[in-house]
Amino acid sequence: MATRKIIEQGDGSLTKVCRPVTSFDQRLHELIDDMRETLEQANGYGLAAPQVGILRRVCLAMGPDGKVIELVNPEILETSGQQEGYEGCLSVPGMYGWVKRPSWAKVRAQDRDGKVFEVEGVGMTARCFCHEIDHLDGHLFTELVIGGLYTEAELDAAQAESQRKKGKGRKGKS
Ligand SMILES: [Zn+2]
Repeated sequence: MATRKIIEQGDGSLTKVCRPVTSFDQRLHELIDDMRETLEQANGYGLAAPQVGILRRVCLAMGPDGKVIELVNPEILETSGQQEGYEGCLSVPGMYGWVKRPSWAKVRAQDRDGKVFEVEGVGMTARCFCHEIDHLDGHLFTELVIGGLYTEAELDAAQAESQRKKGKGRKGKS
């Protein structure tokens, strides 16, 4: 296994529609293993193959049990509800924006050996499924942001200010 370089916004690979995976071979397994290591080192919630320059429909997302789940050729079957919150991306380092997503999502995908499965999730998992599958279609969360992008320091300052106004203690980051 090896870590791979995470491509940042501005690179053309991030705006392309990725091709389906057709060979569930050693090469795919190496890609997924490398992506797992890259994600772990970057301390993120998910990672899509185009973020490491591979234009194939493969992504990792935080599953319903909090563990990383491998999704090959994933498609969103169904969504419901709505959640809003700050979202970031390993390809847009240090920047966050307010994004609306479904609160529940059901996905069909294949595992690294081609076996079809379905998985559903709420909250962060639903958000992660949508964010990562968007990457496979060449879309970044920045296209969905309401009200601009902020640095972590700006968010912390805004959060502290709103907590001060409400007269409550400061909340931790979720
Ligand atoms: Zn991302």
